[in-house]
Amino acid sequence: MIANYHTHTWRCNHAQPGENRYVRAAMERGLKILGFSDHTPYPFPRGHLSTFRMRIAQLPGYCRCIQGLQEKYGSKIQIEIGLEAEYYPKYFPELTAILRDTPVTYLLLGQHFTGNETDGVYSGAPTEDPRVLKAYCSQAKDAMQTGLFTYFAHPDLIHFLGSDEVYRAEMSGLFREAKSCGIPLEVNFLGMADGRHYPSRRFLELAAEENCQVIFGCDAHDPAALLDTAMEAKARALTKEYGLTVLDTVPLRNIQTLLR
Ligand SMILES: [Zn+2]
Ligand SMILES: [Zn+2]
Repeated sequence: MIANYHTHTWRCNHAQPGENRYVRAAMERGLKILGFSDHTPYPFPRGHLSTFRMRIAQLPGYCRCIQGLQEKYGSKIQIEIGLEAEYYPKYFPELTAILRDTPVTYLLLGQHFTGNETDGVYSGAPTEDPRVLKAYCSQAKDAMQTGLFTYFAHPDLIHFLGSDEVYRAEMSGLFREAKSCGIPLEVNFLGMADGRHYPSRRFLELAAEENCQVIFGCDAHDPAALLDTAMEAKARALTKEYGLTVLDTVPLRNIQTLLR
């Protein structure tokens, strides 16, 4: 692995502190590119508290911190400022308006909730309801069509336990859209290390059928995750089994250029 674009910081309330340690771990691993992509703040209405993301007021500090790392380590490793963001149609325009005045360069799509989070359900909750699966797919398609997302993180976060046929039909459509938008799909190492329901074999199978490109993402919430080469070995074996093309790097879709 030479690049990891999926890295969190303590600001999301569930990652280990010490941004320097993440950079040093990445260098020890031999990465050439380290992208920070902490959970984006979201301009939700007053009274809605989202506990797994930084507050809007923390965004300048997040950016300053990573700019400091760029200054300190930039000659040794390329460090990028990104965010992992959901596409919530109701609040996304306001979010992008906020991001325009920051040095945030790229967005990863991580559709953790359907709807607008304030009115939807957690995507990773087991469900047999095809409406949830359909909502997830249609929302993620809309997200990709904005052209603002660099890649799709853990696309198989949706935990549909209903009929295989329905899953296949919906997810094939989603992956076809990713392919036509030129958006790589992530094989998520955190899910693998944690024994979660993703990355799933049915995702890899459908992604291969649709000729999608994939990218590995550590989804590091701890510097140690950047040093865990066992996950890479496991992911290489799995993707090889399905004949998937794994990208080493992805061109970042620069939101500052795109939002101008
Ligand atoms: Zn995520
Ligand atoms: Zn993440």
